[in-house]
Amino acid sequence: MSKSTDDRTKLSLRRATRPREADGAAPWPVLVVDDDPDVHSMTRVLLRDFSFQGKGFEVISAMSGTEARAVLARRADIPVMLLDVVMETPDAGLSLIRHVRDDLGNRRLAIVLRTGQPGEAPERDVMLAYDINDYRSKTELTAQKLFTSLIGGLRSWIYLSTIEAMASTLERRVTERTCQLDEARRFAESLVELLPNPLWFTDPDGSLRLYNRAFREMFGVDSGDWHGQPTHGVLPQPLAGLDQMADMSLKVGGPGGLAFEASLDHQDGQRTLVVNKGLVRSDCRGTADEPMGTIGIVTDITERKHMESQLRHLATTDELTGCLNRRAFFVAAEQELERASRYGNAVSVLMIDIDHFKQVNDRHGHAVGDKALKAATAAIRANLREIDSFGRLGGEEFAAMLPETTLAGALLVAERLRQAVEAIALPLGDDQPPLRLTTSLGVAERQPGEVAVDQVLARADTALYRAKAEGRNRVLA
Ligand code: GH3
Ligand code: MG
Ligand code: MG
Repeated sequence: MSKSTDDRTKLSLRRATRPREADGAAPWPVLVVDDDPDVHSMTRVLLRDFSFQGKGFEVISAMSGTEARAVLARRADIPVMLLDVVMETPDAGLSLIRHVRDDLGNRRLAIVLRTGQPGEAPERDVMLAYDINDYRSKTELTAQKLFTSLIGGLRSWIYLSTIEAMASTLERRVTERTCQLDEARRFAESLVELLPNPLWFTDPDGSLRLYNRAFREMFGVDSGDWHGQPTHGVLPQPLAGLDQMADMSLKVGGPGGLAFEASLDHQDGQRTLVVNKGLVRSDCRGTADEPMGTIGIVTDITERKHMESQLRHLATTDELTGCLNRRAFFVAAEQELERASRYGNAVSVLMIDIDHFKQVNDRHGHAVGDKALKAATAAIRANLREIDSFGRLGGEEFAAMLPETTLAGALLVAERLRQAVEAIALPLGDDQPPLRLTTSLGVAERQPGEVAVDQVLARADTALYRAKAEGRNRVLA
């Protein structure tokens, strides 16, 4: 207890000379109920010089039970009542007690019963039967005893008032908190509902307890349709199975959250979804960290995946011919060469260059040159395997990498390519003969110790150079 509180409740038995004027605080009202006017004046005299907690006493007089009822109906702030037993009726005092407690519901008012005729209401029985604080005979009440009894009553009134005030503060705070929680709940519900991502919440048994508008739209259900249903019974496969597995792994104490990818047959076509799942824990139910359920939230990444693959395609493909561009060819070739050197497998490269291609452009124009490039590319690609990498290094120069192929095998492939391009007959118009193309090819197989594509390509390029020098339209190693 703090010092100031201690001071406030400290009983002051000193005789105050002028209590009211001394501190200016309103005095303690004391209701004296008695049909004997002398009792009133006596009490006034006795209380005049006393004070409690720096405040004197103000005597309010009622000459009967009826008068007292009228006073108490007006004033609920009276802390103590000094009450006679026999007044207008033999039990006017006792019935007033019942009225105060039962009808007015006033439990704080301290009641000191004072009787002039102790025989009328036996002390012990009355103390037990009536909710009163003290019971004295009038003759017994000397100044000191009256004061003691009064202070006891005042203390009881102060304690009960404090408790009542605390209870009402508590009640107000509970109401406030309930209101705040309600607000928070409504906020969360609106947030969940408005979220563009489909979201659902399942209880620890895996039954759906909540799902938002985006979820309803995605699965074509209404608010109540799936409520209380287990997700594995309603969600489409494979989402349902993956979701169930995720829930199990969350429950057995894995990480608090996880994500998985699932594809979904939707009316708008196949969708790719990323599902993020999180365990929701509660510590409100006694056991700390008890799982309340799981939240699932879906992000539809179909468009993103599509764009990614488009971007990847754009970044790795030669626009004109559709084969790998220079950079993508080198990436693929490096990987293949590394694999071949690690496992000791054979790998060969071809350098391919169209002969006198400048003349094609000069004679027939750039557009025809482009067509010729595409035709040559198609002819070459058609004669390579799926596992071979084929790219345009620039202009009319191409390269191919042939995994698990020795020099002898690569020479056969190169010859097949040469023939395939030679077989092209590109129509040029009614009165002109079709355009024909030839190619020169240089071949090289990776030698032990060669780890860079450049090294192997350089030897193939040297062979190509010689093929050009020796008359073109030929394959050399
Ligand atoms: P060689 O037999 O010695 O290889 O002679 P060439 O004329 O084929 O070689 P050169 O390198 O002198 O010329 C290549 C030509 O390819 C020059 C250029 O106009 C043409 N060319 C390069 N890229 C393209 C393209 O994208 N489209 C078209 N139509 N022509 C291209
Ligand atoms: Mg050329
Ligand atoms: Mg060239």
